[in-house]
Amino acid sequence: MGFFTKDNKSMEDLFLHGLQDVYYAENQIVKSLPTMIEKATNRELATALRNHLKETENQVARLDQVFERLGRDPKGTDCPAIDGLIKEASEVTGEVEDKKVLDAAVIGSAQAIEHYEISRYGTLIAWAEELRQDNVVRLLNANLKEEKAADIKLSGLAESKINRKATTGHRTAAQRAATKRRTGTSAKRPARRKK
Ligand code: ZN
Ligand code: FE
Ligand code: FE
Ligand code: FE
Repeated sequence: MGFFTKDNKSMEDLFLHGLQDVYYAENQIVKSLPTMIEKATNRELATALRNHLKETENQVARLDQVFERLGRDPKGTDCPAIDGLIKEASEVTGEVEDKKVLDAAVIGSAQAIEHYEISRYGTLIAWAEELRQDNVVRLLNANLKEEKAADIKLSGLAESKINRKATTGHRTAAQRAATKRRTGTSAKRPARRKK
């Protein structure tokens, strides 16, 4: 169901819809992460995703508690956004043959999902605070913290090694010839600046 249907009458309804939306999203993520883990060839990446799968299962359990505290049955509602992100992830990673490039694709897709979750939890926490639902803020915050940590972890892996591995050593003859035409040398890429 979309966010702005007629049955979203009040802020409470909107909040409940948001919870059902993220509940659906977390459950879809639990289902889709194993495929991402299978595709990852970098061991650290696979481990990071595996750890986040465990966290995600626990996030679903926290959301169960949120519903319980609100006196509601845990229930999901279709979230076209997460369906789209997961579909895009499987399309993009399905197109990549080079294993190193595939790792970079997996990280990019996983981070899109983390950012989606971060956005949703940020909003839900702000609404929960405004609605004085203080008893669920701590649980939502715990999920948000894990999403942020997962995102930072993935950025670290991408920027410290995985993107580099995906980029170097795979210049085609045509790329080298183009560089030579442009610069008069077949020089490699300029050295990266140290941070
Ligand atoms: Zn929705
Ligand atoms: Fe999550
Ligand atoms: Fe897209
Ligand atoms: Fe996540």
